Amino acid sequence: MEAPIIELKGLTKCYRSLRAVDDLDLTINKGEIFGLLGPNGAGKSTTILMLLGLTEPTSGVATVCGFNATKNPIPVKQKVGYMPDNIGFYNNMTALENLVYVGRLNGIAEAEVKERAREMLEEVGLSGAMNKRTATFSRGMKQRLGLADVLIKQPEVIILDEPTLGIDPSGVKDFLALIKQLSRQQGLTVLLSSHHLHQVQQVCDRVGIFVGGKLLAEGNIDTLAGNLFAREPFVVEVTVQNPVPPTLETDLLAIETVKKVLVNDHLLQISGSTGCTPDLVRFLVQKGMHITGVQQRSYGLDEIYERYFETNLNENSSSEKSSGLFQRSFFRKRK
Ligand code: ADP
Ligand code: MG
Repeated sequence: MEAPIIELKGLTKCYRSLRAVDDLDLTINKGEIFGLLGPNGAGKSTTILMLLGLTEPTSGVATVCGFNATKNPIPVKQKVGYMPDNIGFYNNMTALENLVYVGRLNGIAEAEVKERAREMLEEVGLSGAMNKRTATFSRGMKQRLGLADVLIKQPEVIILDEPTLGIDPSGVKDFLALIKQLSRQQGLTVLLSSHHLHQVQQVCDRVGIFVGGKLLAEGNIDTLAGNLFAREPFVVEVTVQNPVPPTLETDLLAIETVKKVLVNDHLLQISGSTGCTPDLVRFLVQKGMHITGVQQRSYGLDEIYERYFETNLNENSSSEKSSGLFQRSFFRKRK
């Protein structure tokens, strides 16, 4: 297997007595879109700064594209495009002028810098606005320009700190779709941080749930859901058209993978082993049931999130225990 693009081992950052990042181990592979997910103050930005060699770890090592980010920050910066959460532009310059300026700073030859900047603006969907001053840009347009800024030096990895902050929902959707498309087309590795679970769920191959400087869990959504909900029965809801015969419940319970059956008029709720749906459907058809709907209950990031927080809070805090306080602050929009 190829060497990981990003590898963090025991990465720790202390600010006086605060462990902002606490013994973080993480591996991100080429072409992956990884979401660093956590509330404000979790340590996401601090982790990113260590990855870029912009702040020194208290202990542990961050390796990016094979380079130690602390000891060798220059090659890391050459390979990584970084979009900070407070990206700014020269307001009196146009989008194209801003981008050409950044291109020059990145050492792109004069002969090609304008052409490259135009291409980038096209890629991020800003070609129609390239001659407008960035002072007139919406937050969403600025984020797109920020992405062009990051991409112009043709990086292997892009790191986006809270890239969707302040964009309206439809803008967020388009922006994340763009990131996904670029990543897939160019084999780009993407690390993005967010405290918006829905958005991350939409775009990331894998997420890490990060709270209080610690990575509580990491994996793809299905794996996380599997680990968390392993002890819970898998629920299939089947809607049937014809009346349910009184013996059906007993018949269903005779199937090895079925644990519980609830009949509510035309709706059957069947709890059993993961993946039992095809067997159930076959069985019901054989029993002469006219099935009009089958739905598996699946768990998304919302449930995963809540579950981790519940567990985490119950273990670590008595004052905020299941008060919802923590979660509310989690979902609160940053000013
Ligand atoms: P996130 O990006 O997840 O919101 P940060 O990495 O910005 O979190 O911050 C993690 C913790 O470290 C917070 O408690 C924050 O107040 C603290 N912190 C961040 N930067 C500094 C700094 N330069 N000096 C002291 N404390 C800091
Ligand atoms: Mg941050």
